[in-house]
Amino acid sequence: MRLQNKVALISGGAKGMGAVEAKLFAKEGAKVVIGDVLETEGKQIEAEINETGGECLFVPLDVTDENQWNEAVAATLGRFGKLDILINNAGIFRTGAVEETSSAEWDQVMDINAKGVFLGAKAAIPAMREAGGGSIINLSSVAGLVGAAYSTAYSASKGAVRLFTKSTAIQYATDGVRCNSIHPGVIQTDMTKEAIADSQFKAQRLDPTPLARLGQPEDVAYGALYLASDESSFVTGAELVIDGGWTAQ
Ligand code: NAP
Repeated sequence: MRLQNKVALISGGAKGMGAVEAKLFAKEGAKVVIGDVLETEGKQIEAEINETGGECLFVPLDVTDENQWNEAVAATLGRFGKLDILINNAGIFRTGAVEETSSAEWDQVMDINAKGVFLGAKAAIPAMREAGGGSIINLSSVAGLVGAAYSTAYSASKGAVRLFTKSTAIQYATDGVRCNSIHPGVIQTDMTKEAIADSQFKAQRLDPTPLARLGQPEDVAYGALYLASDESSFVTGAELVIDGGWTAQ
């Protein structure tokens, strides 16, 4: 098993990619903590993993709240004794050009998608140092690599995650803490349900995808698995693009 004896904390793990990552990581031997604002859904994933031979704990977590992050890390250490892997996965998607984006919307997106990632890393790094190292995986997006015609705050937040990742990688390499970003293209989850149904979005984003299909949460989860495992022990500050070739053209 690729994550034997590892302990992982996954934000936004109650559904979508986070939930799929939690299940895959548990199957690969990790003990998993999922933190989310969605308590009912989170507890369902917790039960599912525990009933199928894995070990999982759900903790309530709003990633914009520093105290809740500290409590989530404390709960992880209390239950499983250490922390090796953090997936900063929680996020929200908002569309709108610059003039259509309100100041409040900008703040909300930046708070969850960018500040949430910073607070997660800040809370996890001392525990990882204590464990002799660790792997932080930050969910950016292809919207953090190239400009987007359909979103403003979202792209800005994901661009922030991209460079925050590299700074973290450089700052904590000597502690054995690696930090990498993942840049998915369009992945079929609740987040993209409405967008996928929109014909303009489909023409801009889906039709020109060289591999000619939508991404599935598993496509991203397997990338996260590689970055979480010791197989990637020489990889830090890197960007893993999982987009069916969309940004290659
Ligand atoms: P998802 O299905 O909407 O799941 C995200 C989870 O995070 C949900 O449970 C959500 O709860 C939760 N969340 C939202 N705000 C939170 C907060 N403040 N604190 C804790 N949890 C919170 O999304 P996904 O598609 O799996 O996306 C996962 C990550 O990948 C996100 O960072 C996203 O930006 C990124 N990404 C997604 C795509 C894509 O095409 N799906 C592409 C590129 C990057 P609510 O449902 O209540 O909001």
